[in-house]
Amino acid sequence: MRKKSFKAESKRLLDLMINSIYTNRDIFLREIISNASDAVDKLHYISLTDESVRERSADLGIFISVDKENHTLTVSDNGIGMDEKELEENLGTIAKSGSLAFKSQLDNTEDADIIGQFGVGFYSAFMVADKVTVITRKYNSDTSLKWTSEGCDGYTVEECQKDTFGTDIIMSIKPDSDEEKYSQFLERYTIEGLIKQYSDYIRYPIKMEVETTKNTAPEGEEPKYEKVREIKTLNSMVPIWARPKSEASDEDCAEYYKSKFMDFSDPLLTIRQNADGLVSYKAMLFVPSKVPYGYFTKDFEKGLQLYSSGVLIMDKCEQLLPDHFRFVKGVVDTADLSLNISRELLQNDRQLKVIAGGIEKKIKSELKKTMDNEPEKYAEFWKNFGIQIKYGVVSDYGIYKDAVIDLLVFRSSLNNGLTSLKDYVLRMPENQQYIYYLSGESAEKISQLPQAELCRDKGYEILYLTDDVDEFVISGIGKFQEKEFKSVDAEDSGLVSEDEKKALEETRETNKELCEFVKAAIGDEIASCVISEKLKSKPVFISVLGPVTLEMEKYFSLMPDDGNPKPKAEKVLELNPDHAVFKALKSAFETDKEKAQKIAKVLHCNARLIAGLPIENPVEFSDIIAEILAD
Ligand code: ADP
Repeated sequence: MRKKSFKAESKRLLDLMINSIYTNRDIFLREIISNASDAVDKLHYISLTDESVRERSADLGIFISVDKENHTLTVSDNGIGMDEKELEENLGTIAKSGSLAFKSQLDNTEDADIIGQFGVGFYSAFMVADKVTVITRKYNSDTSLKWTSEGCDGYTVEECQKDTFGTDIIMSIKPDSDEEKYSQFLERYTIEGLIKQYSDYIRYPIKMEVETTKNTAPEGEEPKYEKVREIKTLNSMVPIWARPKSEASDEDCAEYYKSKFMDFSDPLLTIRQNADGLVSYKAMLFVPSKVPYGYFTKDFEKGLQLYSSGVLIMDKCEQLLPDHFRFVKGVVDTADLSLNISRELLQNDRQLKVIAGGIEKKIKSELKKTMDNEPEKYAEFWKNFGIQIKYGVVSDYGIYKDAVIDLLVFRSSLNNGLTSLKDYVLRMPENQQYIYYLSGESAEKISQLPQAELCRDKGYEILYLTDDVDEFVISGIGKFQEKEFKSVDAEDSGLVSEDEKKALEETRETNKELCEFVKAAIGDEIASCVISEKLKSKPVFISVLGPVTLEMEKYFSLMPDDGNPKPKAEKVLELNPDHAVFKALKSAFETDKEKAQKIAKVLHCNARLIAGLPIENPVEFSDIIAEILAD
């Protein structure tokens, strides 16, 4: 027998478990029982195809025993068990689901209070035990193994004797200290309470031998009360999703979610569905209140747990969730799937498709309800997963567009909140033809753009597009309720009346030479200079011709250099003919060309600054400003 060390991260986690002043030690039992239940689930699944197991499957369950003399609490299961390799992998390292998420949390915080608010798994036993012994025998194996550890300095594995398949977790409970009465975990009362609180829904019986006082006299005779020992089942065994709402409070569901799906925060939304139609199923779904660990990496696997008549068929059934709802976690239970269906066949199963359709509709309607009734909650959701919904519009050539369009919200010029497209259209004045938008870095910056003024003055609301993907989303939508989208600075924005256009033509004609002069002074950085109809109080701004917008140019400029020229927006410098600076420019153009050139350059730099673009030659810009100021 050789002593082995834990992997580095495991050691750190163990250390925190053992030494933390963490107060919610209770959850250790939930974690150990949850592992036992998973192990039984796995054997149950095998029993569907293996007759020898099936014979025993009626007895599958979890057993709790207390040995007060030796100060141990034991959780046993007759599930799948572990072989040597699995023991090493599962209990010697933190490489598994919940523990991994936990580890990422550890990297960010030393706050002991966070520990254990979510699934920290097997190691949580060390919060109450100073020694843990695991005795296990894998299904269909002749070898039994004993794993022992007293904490950080490592563990040992040796062969031992065990007659049945499954696992015993023997926890040597710590002696009582001033702060904590560990011996309570050896009391029936505490154990029963913890199981009711955290593990009631476990689908297998959690049994314990208990002492009760009973009338042992035959009927009709004088009652005779005696202490007897009997096996009691401590949990109701009704899975939480199968219970009526009155018996599964939101808190219960949140508790279940946290322990089952490795989150430390309550879910933002809990969605329950009890469908009785073409296919009957029960679903309990959760929208996380935070972005799950690794969510935006390719390693993230979407999917729902799929149960068929109480048997776990698949841990992450991806066919049940469309990509645009891949953040949803939860469980689906149906009696209508054939149990011995293979996983490959399941992919094409018609019933499964019907369920997936029903679930998608339900998620959508619940999100919509939240949007309408609890805008702040929806804003929270949007902050985390809005981008996923937006991808739903543009991905796969827009085939999911209609499914998600009602869930889109944008910041707008109206106020600080978010608006749906439907509400935007409802507010449109009768004479407003298009849905207007403007792109930029942030709502604050966009609201100050010169080109927004005219639109706002007319009383037209502007959608503020601040995500890289937003412009693609808008073009992906095409039209909403027959209304086209228009960028406020588009040439054909419809913001200028025919009369105004006519007057503009004249002004443009009169100032043709001046504009050509400005273009020449600035050079290739702009495609042209024009007299603008879109400015009210500000002197200049940059608009764009062609398909590459300013936001796209900024986006491309951040991409790594691959040797090819990066796409640039074709920029137009637009001048406000009614502004005092324009008048100064004009008079300089007539009398002092050198000065006119300087004014042109400063105006151009100003326009770039407002648009959030860098200035190519800041020294020259600064020199000219200094000169003008000193004049
Ligand atoms: P998690 O449950 O999040 O994967 P744990 O640390 O609780 O993390 O457990 C690690 C792994 O150890 C489990 O995934 C499982 O494979 C194995 N394991 C733990 N307890 C048991 C058990 N009672 N029977 C069989 N395997 C178990």
